[in-house]
Amino acid sequence: MIQDNIRHVEEKMRAACESCGRNARDVRLIAVSKTKPVEMLMEAYDYGCRDFGENKVQELVDKYEQMPKDIRWHMIGHLQRNKVKYIVDKVYLIHSVDSLRLAEEISKEAVKKNVTVSILVEVNVAEEESKFGTTSEEAVLLVEEIAKLPNIIIKGLMTIAPYVEAAEENRLYFAKLKQIYVDIIHKNIDNVSMEELSMGMTDDYEVAITEGATYIRVGTGIFGERQYHTV
Ligand SMILES: *Cc1c(COP(=O)(O)O)cnc(C)c1O
Repeated sequence: MIQDNIRHVEEKMRAACESCGRNARDVRLIAVSKTKPVEMLMEAYDYGCRDFGENKVQELVDKYEQMPKDIRWHMIGHLQRNKVKYIVDKVYLIHSVDSLRLAEEISKEAVKKNVTVSILVEVNVAEEESKFGTTSEEAVLLVEEIAKLPNIIIKGLMTIAPYVEAAEENRLYFAKLKQIYVDIIHKNIDNVSMEELSMGMTDDYEVAITEGATYIRVGTGIFGERQYHTV
C-alpha cells in the first residue's frame, strides 16, 4: 500500500512538472514519517525512498539509530535550542530555522562536532499566528545575519502553507516564498546558495511544484492518516 502510494505521488509530481515545463528531477519527495513505526518507513525505504522528514528530535534520533545509514534525514518541525546538539551530526537538512538565536546554537554545536549543517530559513508567508517562521519582511535580514555564522550553510527557504479547502488558495503563498528566494539570490550574499524551496504537502504539492518547489513534504499521502494519542 505504501509503495503504491509513493508511486501515485511520483506520477502526480511528474504530471505537475510537465504541466509547467519543469524537469521532474528538480523536485524531490520527502516522505514525512512522523508518528509512523519504522516498519512502515522500511517499506518506503525498500521502494527507494532515501529522504525522510521528522518533526521531533527524539523521534528522529530513535529512527536514525534503527534505520539504514544512507538515509537523508530532514528536520521539518519546530526546533528548540536545547535539543540542537542531538541532531546536528545526524540531519541532512534542517528546514525550520526561524531565528538568529536558533541559528547561532546550530552553528555553535556544528563547530563543536566539526560538521557543516545545511539549513533552510522558515518563512511564515501567510502570517498565521499559530505558525512558526520569520516574517516575509525579516527573511532577507535573517538570511544575511545567519550567513555570517561558521559551519552553517543556508540552502534555501521553507514554508508551511495554511490548511485550506482548495489547494489553489495557497498558490499566492508559494509564489511569495519564491519571490523572497529570488530577491535573496539577487543580493549575492556570501555563504548563501539559494537552491531549495521546501513547500507543498499532501493536499497542495502539485500547486507548490508549479510555483517552483524543489522539495515537497508528503506524509498522509504516503503513510495514511496520523493518529495522535492524547495523554
Ligand atoms: C506533518 C508535516 C508535513 C506533512 O503533512 P501531510 O499533510 O501529512 O502531507 C509536511 N510538513 C511539515 C512541516 C509537517 O509538520
